[in-house]
Amino acid sequence: MSSGNGGRPAPAQFPPPVDPQGEFIKRGLDPEDELIEVGVAIVGGGTAGLACANRLLQLLGEDEELLESLGEVPVAVIEKAKTCGGHNLSGAVMRPGPLEELLSGLTREDWRKEGFAFGAVDKEAVYLMPSATKAVKIPTPPPFKNHGNEVISVAALARYQQRIAEEAGAYVLTETAATQLIVEKGRVVGVRSGDKGRGKDGRPLRNFEPGTDVKAKFTVLAEGCWGHLTGAAIREFGLAEGREPQVWELGVKEVWKVTRPLDRLIHTIGPWPLKVKSKYGQIGGTWLYPMKDEKTGDDLVSIGFVVDLEYADATTSAHDLLQQFKLHPLVREILEGGERISWGAKALPAGGWWSMPKLTMPGALLVGDSAGMVDTVALKGVHHSVLSGRLAGEAIYDSLKRGDKSLDSYAEAVANSSIAEELYEVRNTRQPFQKGFLRGGPLVNMMILTKGRFPGGRWKWHRNDEKPMFIGDTKDGYPKPDGKYTFDKLSSVYITGNATRDDAPNHIRVRKRVPREVAETWAWMCPAGVYEIPDDAPASGPVDVIVNYTNCVQCGAITAKGGRLTTPEGGDGPLYQNL
Ligand SMILES: Cc1cc2nc3c(=O)[nH]c(=O)nc-3n(C[C@H](O)[C@H](O)[C@H](O)COP(=O)(O)OP(=O)(O)OC[C@H]3O[C@@H](n4cnc5c(N)ncnc54)[C@H](O)[C@@H]3O)c2cc1C
Ligand code: SF4
Repeated sequence: MSSGNGGRPAPAQFPPPVDPQGEFIKRGLDPEDELIEVGVAIVGGGTAGLACANRLLQLLGEDEELLESLGEVPVAVIEKAKTCGGHNLSGAVMRPGPLEELLSGLTREDWRKEGFAFGAVDKEAVYLMPSATKAVKIPTPPPFKNHGNEVISVAALARYQQRIAEEAGAYVLTETAATQLIVEKGRVVGVRSGDKGRGKDGRPLRNFEPGTDVKAKFTVLAEGCWGHLTGAAIREFGLAEGREPQVWELGVKEVWKVTRPLDRLIHTIGPWPLKVKSKYGQIGGTWLYPMKDEKTGDDLVSIGFVVDLEYADATTSAHDLLQQFKLHPLVREILEGGERISWGAKALPAGGWWSMPKLTMPGALLVGDSAGMVDTVALKGVHHSVLSGRLAGEAIYDSLKRGDKSLDSYAEAVANSSIAEELYEVRNTRQPFQKGFLRGGPLVNMMILTKGRFPGGRWKWHRNDEKPMFIGDTKDGYPKPDGKYTFDKLSSVYITGNATRDDAPNHIRVRKRVPREVAETWAWMCPAGVYEIPDDAPASGPVDVIVNYTNCVQCGAITAKGGRLTTPEGGDGPLYQNL
């Protein structure tokens, strides 16, 4: 933990009441007549998990004998959202290669007709934002070059992938959370699905349905950023030994229907509205991506703000920073007269190469964000999720074919792929920012220009929750929401279609009594307004935190900053459509 913090508390000093291995690992399967047996269980119906299902089913489709040997359910995908895509959000401008290879029968025009792609990038611009009114266009730095990439929606892509997976024979269990990893004799042998129909106090209600063990030959953990079972698996099998700790960013996104098409893809790299002084520890950036919806003919804009969760000012709020950013004249000109049609928030793993855990364990493997495969300098992870899912599908097929239990060929395939190549190149590119924007910026540029060769070596991270927090003044810049152009958190959650029952059990684990700095960190950080500090709480010292967990949109950020998101009841949470 950081020392010399001048008495400032760090969230890591107040760890959540949770025992991942004790609670989330089940030792042994239920009797055969009480469980469901499948060939391969994939936890998480996002881009990565479904790419694995899609590829595996393509291969099994040409191998009837092997397909039949896997029984009635050769491939099961377990997804906690109401439908695949419901909990998925991304920028999302995607490097198209891996998806073109996976869906080789489709053209990019077909993607657009299917409704998950919205046009290729042919013009782009990057701006420095020195202040609330100025924007200076700069030559596009290499990581921001997007010419030829495709603007997509991962929520819509996942729904498309679900459809083709089901057509190819997958059993997709939506509204189902995998709550425990089942380990028998040192090997993952499946997962347990969560109970449904428990009340606030955990007691069964009249519609109670108990969870079931799902036994599988192989299990794929495709849970996205900081998975519930992935975290437990990493501890159980020591997958993070010798690696740097994982660190996180949080992004808040809106989709706007606009009156004039946006003619270019835009990134801004600050510093405004963040503060450059290193005491704030703030790093972040924004995007504005043009989207043409071919089904409706609408001109849309994807706009988002991403903030590194390494910050020290407890009043940093990605949601409010996005509202503030929309007031800049550059943005106003694009959105003015338009209408916000969607909102969502999600965290992403930012540690990159040095933080990637070992990818395999006996009986299971990690893909996509669960494996930390994101380049946060370029803000790119979708293509790695697709490729890792595909490579996992191929490795599992080969192991099944050989009758072999090893998944090592998956780790080798990733090591020899563009995933490793691209992430290695930017392996040290984010770490200098832990020194602050001004001191770290030149080093970051040097790393980018030399493709990671200079200054070289292995740069160390510390965990985001070890950062001592103070109550600063970032909040003073946030606009008062007008409900038309700028919004508060609750009206944002409202348009996500959040369907969490009012009497659902609490799925957020945090200490309820913490220093004011930690409580304020959670209250400002949470984009869904889950944490509240009572009005009569003392101005300093310990305070009691109120947790309005039914608002949660499962962005995962709390896990980075001192709490723990666990799986809610299947079907709860947002229902994202085009994020
Ligand atoms: C704000 C933001 C902007 C981004 N912008 C870009 C961009 O412009 N371009 C780009 O290439 N990348 C971008 N990325 C990164 C990219 O979106 C991710 O790398 C990618 O979408 C991850 O896909 P995934 O399938 O691994 O995870 P996810 O999309 O998170 O899918 C995981 C799925 O697993 C389900 N799940 C999790 N745990 C369980 C459980 N225990 N039981 C059942 N279901 C479970 C979840 O509900 C979810 O559906 C961005 C990410 C964010 C957050
Ligand atoms: S409570 Fe839910 S929405 Fe809020 S930060 Fe935690 S995971 Fe995100």
